[in-house]
Amino acid sequence: MLNLILFGPPGAGKGTQADFLIEKFKLNHISTGNLLRRQIASGTELGLAAKSYMDKGFLVPDSIVIGMIRTKLLKNKEANGYVFDGFPRTVAQAKSLDDLLSENGMAISGMLCLEVEKKELIDRLLYRGITSGRPDDQDVSIIENRIQVYTEKTMPLKDYYKAQNKYYRVDGTGSVEKIAQRLIETISTLGT
Ligand code: ADP
Repeated sequence: MLNLILFGPPGAGKGTQADFLIEKFKLNHISTGNLLRRQIASGTELGLAAKSYMDKGFLVPDSIVIGMIRTKLLKNKEANGYVFDGFPRTVAQAKSLDDLLSENGMAISGMLCLEVEKKELIDRLLYRGITSGRPDDQDVSIIENRIQVYTEKTMPLKDYYKAQNKYYRVDGTGSVEKIAQRLIETISTLGT
């Protein structure tokens, strides 16, 4: 089983590369951002609770996000493996994910970190704001806040996975195909 974490700051290209990897390796895609946006669109209580955090660029509380992942993993017991995109984002989430996977006889194969410099991230997100209409992509101060939250709360996960020998740095610049190629090369070195 191949269980990958696609890691990196907002705008690093996690969603784009996730689409490619799920197709190539026949994996299930779990994007907490997409799951949360779906809850908002359906007007659920969970969506309502999450929206105020997302609109400002803050993380949604761990309890909400971890509960959502648990439901998703239990529903997909037959999967070939998973691409986790935008999750985990805190050390508490990473620990819960390890526990949930091991309870089901699974483990993370590797954490693939897409590296892109800040100026390019902001340009990419502002462009996505125009094409996707996502409110959190349309305001530079919200984007800056998300990048800061990433630096403070999410970056420490690099050390968490380094300690397990599961951290892989991947250059996230260049064409989508070139980045995909780098990811495939890294994945081919993973023991599954
Ligand atoms: P991006 O990677 O561009 O920030 P996402 O769709 O992954 O886009 O996330 C959008 C927003 O959804 C985040 O700013 C945050 O508010 C919320 N979110 C997504 N995933 C998580 C998570 N794992 N933990 C907490 N909040 C999350």
